[in-house]
Amino acid sequence: MGEQARSGGDFDVLIIGAGISGIGSAWHLQDQCPGKTYALIESKDTFGGTWETHKYPGVRSDSDLYTFGYRFKPWVGAPIASAQAILDYMGEVIAEGGIDQHIRYGHTITSAKWCSEANRWTLEAVHKDGSNATFTANFLWMCQGYYDHQVPYIPKEWQGVADFKGQFVHAQLWDPATDVSGKRVLVIGSGATAATIVPALCDEGATVTMLQRSPTWFYCAPNVSELADRLRAIGIDEPTVHRVVRQDYIHNFYELDRRSREEPEVIAEELRTLIRSYAGEDFAFEPHFTPRYRPWQQRLAQLPDGDMFKHVVAGNASVVTDTIDRFTDAGVLTASGELLEADIIVACTGFHLKVLGDIPFEVDGKAINWGDTVTYRGMMFTGVPNMVWVFGYFRASWTLRVDIVGDFVCGLLRHMDARGAKKVEAAFRDEDEGMEIAPWIEADNFNPGYLMRDMDKLPKRGAGDIWRHNQNYWLERNAIPAIDLEGQEFVYDGVRAGAGMAEAAE
Ligand SMILES: Cc1cc2nc3c(=O)[nH]c(=O)nc-3n(C[C@H](O)[C@H](O)[C@H](O)COP(=O)(O)OP(=O)(O)OC[C@H]3O[C@@H](n4cnc5c(N)ncnc54)[C@H](O)[C@@H]3O)c2cc1C
Repeated sequence: MGEQARSGGDFDVLIIGAGISGIGSAWHLQDQCPGKTYALIESKDTFGGTWETHKYPGVRSDSDLYTFGYRFKPWVGAPIASAQAILDYMGEVIAEGGIDQHIRYGHTITSAKWCSEANRWTLEAVHKDGSNATFTANFLWMCQGYYDHQVPYIPKEWQGVADFKGQFVHAQLWDPATDVSGKRVLVIGSGATAATIVPALCDEGATVTMLQRSPTWFYCAPNVSELADRLRAIGIDEPTVHRVVRQDYIHNFYELDRRSREEPEVIAEELRTLIRSYAGEDFAFEPHFTPRYRPWQQRLAQLPDGDMFKHVVAGNASVVTDTIDRFTDAGVLTASGELLEADIIVACTGFHLKVLGDIPFEVDGKAINWGDTVTYRGMMFTGVPNMVWVFGYFRASWTLRVDIVGDFVCGLLRHMDARGAKKVEAAFRDEDEGMEIAPWIEADNFNPGYLMRDMDKLPKRGAGDIWRHNQNYWLERNAIPAIDLEGQEFVYDGVRAGAGMAEAAE
């Protein structure tokens, strides 16, 4: 990294974060707004974000890569992919797009200030060598994810963790050099991470106990796409295979979502039937595999070839459904009095939410408190000009939204140029005044722990589809491309847009 790369600079656009969102956004910007200058700022020494941070055994996607991959880059591997395969894919996108020359690795953004007089963001960064750099730009594209990559979430109420004499680690901080062969490993948690780590630890020769507070739904299936294999076998080219198989997965998600709400018991039985196909007809679902919520109310983790269930049946892994009373020198004592002894304890207890990277934001000298803002479609925020946040889907692949938001941002940038505008804000229309303002997510519809714990840090939502992040891909894939950039919710250079301006701008 040369001196020049560290010394900041002035650009049309700054993208923050070189995870799957930031790399996809850079690709869209180059493709759709080729004249724009940009830099992509990343804290780490390399790209990948989530897929670089997590190094626990077996780390893999829990959704298929035909939809977790980008619209523009065919996925050619098995649907559920290892972290390394995802990193390789992102590496190809970077190389093919020449994106690497725009990335400023090792820079952590520490503040972001908007000045309406200059129509520019000024971002301060600290380089890992301790030096400072200043970046300025007209538009800010925030792709910094939603959680703390350094400090994972460990429940504060856990008593006596320091008493445990073995090795205690959070999955996010797992050291890949750890030898688990012949060890007793206690995995605490029941989500996608726990369900990934359990079979992988068994494969490495550990005897595993999974301690869960409550059961989770899983979708067990072979890690193949028969449709993709068939299309390839008859000579269809990879871009077409990608497009068709991606659409097939999207359609299947839609049906699963719809049916989970309309006939949850039927879906539940179908999920149990899939588990039985790996675990055997007489597999006992009680008491560890009967969730209390309806399927799809939380993200449905895919288990390729039902791997966790095969290890449960083989006796390499067991499940305990209980809560923790306290940690002891030997392991964990459960509330019902059982001592779960272990050599290693792995906490799969999730994340610390970071809203906009916890970066202090200012607009014209006034600090932004995100809880005082209202989101425009989960992308922009009232009172914060020229900034978009990429926050993906939870129940469909995150990346589907990277493509949708990418089209929106590029369309907005082109529209601003056509209009000669330097500043855009989303602001309530007359009809929005007095509308009910509510927390970011509807807790009865979707309620992961890391969002519920820190809901007050998140922006608010209003009424109707435009003032919230509705997490509905099927609605947004039509609604966002159809946005009228001259709609009254947009204010350009301090003047509200209105009917008739679109023609004037073209
Ligand atoms: C183990 C795991 C598995 C998952 N599997 C799936 C899945 O299968 N399907 C799915 O849809 N979703 C999945 N998710 C959710 C997942 O986080 C997202 O899908 C996606 O990878 C997020 O990408 P991102 O680029 O938005 O954010 P991140 O991957 O979090 O990347 C953000 C990047 O921004 C950088 N950054 C942050 N703050 C700053 C700053 N101040 N200055 C400079 N750089 C900064 C970070 O270093 C990081 O590299 C999974 C999550 C985890 C943890």
